[in-house]
Amino acid sequence: MTRLVAWLLPAALLVPVVTPLWGRWQLACREPTFTWPIGGLSDYVLRADAYGSGAFGSRRRGGRSHNGIDLAAPIGTPVRAAKSGTARHGRQRDGMGTYLEVHHHDGSVALYGHLSRMVVADGQWVSRGQVIGLVGKSGNARPRRIHPHLHFELRLRGVPLDPLDGYLDGTEVSRSSGRPAARSAKT
Ligand SMILES: [Zn+2]
Repeated sequence: MTRLVAWLLPAALLVPVVTPLWGRWQLACREPTFTWPIGGLSDYVLRADAYGSGAFGSRRRGGRSHNGIDLAAPIGTPVRAAKSGTARHGRQRDGMGTYLEVHHHDGSVALYGHLSRMVVADGQWVSRGQVIGLVGKSGNARPRRIHPHLHFELRLRGVPLDPLDGYLDGTEVSRSSGRPAARSAKT
């Protein structure tokens, strides 16, 4: 009897630990890629204006490198979560303006910058495709000659990835990998 309890008790204690992990793993299997936060593969437009290009890795002032992609869209365009996860309201005052992060079950983080509005609460669970905010020109996207866009950033263990490098639905994996570390730019 005591032997049985000795086996059952640790097993019972593991249930609340293992169950959410199992749920997360199943979700990760169902959502291997990221959906487009605005538009799609056939109709997306990268920002191009006097201040710079919206491509990943494009150059910014002070030798910095652009750590996301800028999807051009009119102010007020709904922004959708690329993957399910927990929404976090941005807290750093570093030029992103009003921004949201979504922390995913696979450890990756998506950042949605320069919003005019967030429409989800801090800490709220959001589903892939759910509207989480609206395009704006907050932070250092404010200058008139910067075209309105969504700054979309994807990070895995803190390392920024090019969302167009096989992560967003329909995009293909390029052969070049390993980029030089560069200071991030926030537009
Ligand atoms: Zn940007």
